[in-house]
Amino acid sequence: MSGTTGASCTCWPSPTIWAEAGPPSPGNGRFATFPYDVTVTTSLHDDTVDLLRSLIRTECVNDGTPDSGQEIQAVRVLERYLGGVGIEYGVYESHPGRASLVARLHGTDPDAPSLALVGHLDVVPVEPAGWAHDPFAADVIDGEVWGRGAVDMLYLTASFATVFREAARSGVPLRGDLVFVAVADEEGGSRYGLDWLLRNVPEVVAADYVLTEAGGMRIGEKVVVAVAEKGSAGRRVTLRGTPGHASAPHGTRNAAVLIAEAVRRLNDFPSPVTLGGQWPAFVEAYAGGSPLAERLGDPERVDAALTELGALAGYGHAVTRTTYAPTVLRSGTAHNVIPGLGSIDLDVRTLPGVTDDEVDAHLRAALGDLAEDAEITRLHGWLPSASPTDSPLYTVLGEALGETLGREVVPIVAAGGSDARLYRYRGAVAYGFGVLSDAWSYERYRSVIHSHNERIDLESVRLTVDTLTRVVHGFLGE
Ligand SMILES: [Zn+2]
Repeated sequence: MSGTTGASCTCWPSPTIWAEAGPPSPGNGRFATFPYDVTVTTSLHDDTVDLLRSLIRTECVNDGTPDSGQEIQAVRVLERYLGGVGIEYGVYESHPGRASLVARLHGTDPDAPSLALVGHLDVVPVEPAGWAHDPFAADVIDGEVWGRGAVDMLYLTASFATVFREAARSGVPLRGDLVFVAVADEEGGSRYGLDWLLRNVPEVVAADYVLTEAGGMRIGEKVVVAVAEKGSAGRRVTLRGTPGHASAPHGTRNAAVLIAEAVRRLNDFPSPVTLGGQWPAFVEAYAGGSPLAERLGDPERVDAALTELGALAGYGHAVTRTTYAPTVLRSGTAHNVIPGLGSIDLDVRTLPGVTDDEVDAHLRAALGDLAEDAEITRLHGWLPSASPTDSPLYTVLGEALGETLGREVVPIVAAGGSDARLYRYRGAVAYGFGVLSDAWSYERYRSVIHSHNERIDLESVRLTVDTLTRVVHGFLGE
């Protein structure tokens, strides 16, 4: 699908300032200043919308393969934007085309804490047939910018860039360093993006405090700040049968049948409920004072109450236990051979404190007598992570969101992963940030990301830029 309907298009001018092919990159880790005379629009909001649209149009689709993403295209857009006011930056290429950009404004006090604004440049693939408008045209229709990545998370990456550039351009002194980190490969697990940067040039991306995706949605009357993430502990369960001729199946030990039984047991086996962490704050924001809140706070009754969370039932389930989801089944090679081997891959998402041994023990208990012949292999994963809510940055976030939205913040644990965890592992305090307009419930947010027809309203962009400006100057200002 392509194009917009003329009737509904608001005919926002095309963002040509930063969209055309940029200058050559300065290469791995070499800092450069570009003398380009880029026109600076008077409004930071308009800049952000134009930059967002330019980033959507770079189409940095990450399908998980090393050569996808090609974030160098988005980096070139940022080079033109930041270079226009003489900001120094470095471009780091972890693999051909997998580029990230980092820029740092030095603070006046070397002992003051630093703040990094970390945005990813890659987006997940689309199924164009499901979209009402071209997912990479970045059309503005009825006050919304359409396109893959508009919400996850290019509107934030664009806001980080414009607020950073404005901080540099204005010359208002900041006590600590302000760092802008635009990374590749977040959607593919960060191997070619932030993980690479932290391993290879840690001093370049170092920061004490970090803002990245995702926050700003409504739960009840409050607004979300993500302070923790679940871990991932993928597993492969392999079961052995005995191969034979499929023309006489009676009495055979068929691995395809074994894994069918195993997958049912793994899916049905209950995972223990834990109502600690940020759950009480979520319940208070969602249903505070109601009988529902009471049931959601009771480990015996919470599962029966989950349906009353509507579209958030899956989220409520996910953040109150470690989850075990069978996702990939393999068995058999030819239709006339009884398979001797079968395997099940599971996406396992762990709550803080759950160990690898506990995950394996849970799987063995679920398999029951099938565990005797089962082999459990640990797949790629990462640890859960959390940041405290009694930090100075959390306080400033609360104040800034109170000023721009008139709402209190509620800390939540994210069911999925983001680059925040990589900074938390290294001791930084990292939060999922964003400011979405009143229409954005947490339910709506969860239904939009990685789905068809992704789009963000201009009001959310405006609120994000305004709030972020307050946060930067509130946290780093003299
Ligand atoms: Zn994202």
